[in-house]
Amino acid sequence: GLPPRFHARVSPEAAPAPEVLGWNRDLALELGLGSMGDDETELARIFSGSLPLPGSQPISMAYAGHQFGHFVPQLGDGRAVLLGELVTETGRRFDLQLKGSGHTPFSRGGDGKSWLGPVLREYILSEAMHHLGVPTTRALAAVATGETVYRETALPGAVFTRVAASHLRVGTFEFFAARRDVEALGMLADYAIDRHYPEATEEQAPYAGLFRHVMARQAELVAHWMAIGFIHGVMNTDNTSIPGETIDYGPAAYMDEFRFDKVFSSIDRQGRYAFANQPRMAQWNLAQLGDTLLMLDVDKAELEAVLSEFPALYEARYLALMALKLGLGQAEEGDADLVSQWLSYLNDNELDYTLSFRELAKRTDATDDARFGSFETAWRQRLSRQGRSPTEISSLMNARNPLFIPRNNRVEQAISDAVAGDLTVFEELNRVLAKPFTEQPEFAHYAEAPEAHERVSRTFCGT
Ligand code: AMP
Ligand code: MG
Repeated sequence: GLPPRFHARVSPEAAPAPEVLGWNRDLALELGLGSMGDDETELARIFSGSLPLPGSQPISMAYAGHQFGHFVPQLGDGRAVLLGELVTETGRRFDLQLKGSGHTPFSRGGDGKSWLGPVLREYILSEAMHHLGVPTTRALAAVATGETVYRETALPGAVFTRVAASHLRVGTFEFFAARRDVEALGMLADYAIDRHYPEATEEQAPYAGLFRHVMARQAELVAHWMAIGFIHGVMNTDNTSIPGETIDYGPAAYMDEFRFDKVFSSIDRQGRYAFANQPRMAQWNLAQLGDTLLMLDVDKAELEAVLSEFPALYEARYLALMALKLGLGQAEEGDADLVSQWLSYLNDNELDYTLSFRELAKRTDATDDARFGSFETAWRQRLSRQGRSPTEISSLMNARNPLFIPRNNRVEQAISDAVAGDLTVFEELNRVLAKPFTEQPEFAHYAEAPEAHERVSRTFCGT
């Protein structure tokens, strides 16, 4: 672990009437916590923070961050406590964190609590992300506290248990850089290398190596987001993970109808984190990480040279993913134009992003271009040069294009039903989204795009 100046000791607050809403059995098994599920009363107490996890010394971590471009020197875990680390049988190390278990030294004016909405939202969205094959923190548990939390109205409180490769953020580096604490920054960089990028120790300049590895993971991550139509919504540096996972699902959303400039977050008034801006914002966040490493005598010109490779690195990964979604196998010269043509068609016609790919997969051997216009002509010509049968291409496409995503309207339904005591939609959604590429006829309604009047256009932060 890291020494005391990186965190503060905390005690989670006890919940008056804890009750399990969600328990991720498969993940618990992977983590070697399978047997905990046998005693639901104890489970509820542990994962609401009411009963200490044996052997755990809970802490809240310090971090800073650029929020919407503005530097805030102290943020930190204001409503989260790290219970500790777990090492699986296969030797993988994870952080176990409670979110919403009460006041911490970093809470500033906040209560450190969470209501049920953001807890169930992060549960559904992060597990869906995992099953879509995208790097992400995971959901182990959601527990209602039995306590009332006051926001604009009185709401039921809940605690979320998150599993992450680690909770190191770009903002963790910024915290110590802002304090000119070079010693701590060095320890942090060494810790990050040791925990996530041990291969960097072999390099001539390990800190520049660390930077290159973090950058590669961010390029990979954002390429995945762009390919599945995901909008993070708050890509601040405190929400940018050093191991490269999707982290801090606040107003995050999966797009229904495609728009390049789509924004959901109620607080993103300028559209800084609009869908199409995400790669550029990731690069901006990496530049902030680079700035902190300058304090460790990393060569500025070298960092700049590494960072300038970001767009090409990102583009290559994105194109490879999109080519697979379009049934194209290896990307070729001209495919980037074909992808643009497709996206422009979806954008101009406000078509559903997810379902349009599934629809396209049915048209590999169509003889008319009635559905997707001149794009379709160019696309089928490109397919015909591959030497694969239309049926084979269709099934390859269906394996890369989900049928089920967490539709905003369904997620909101899951939350409002849960507030009223009914967990059916929450449970069904989790079940369906565990197999997002597979037809599940009994749950076909969860694949449907929302009707115009069902569309959710605004999402809110976790607080
Ligand atoms: P987030 O929106 O999760 O990225 O959080 C931004 C910052 O606000 C972090 O430092 C959080 O810990 C803090 N924060 C969010 N909600 C609360 C809350 N209810 N009480 C205290 N701090 C909070
Ligand atoms: Mg955050």
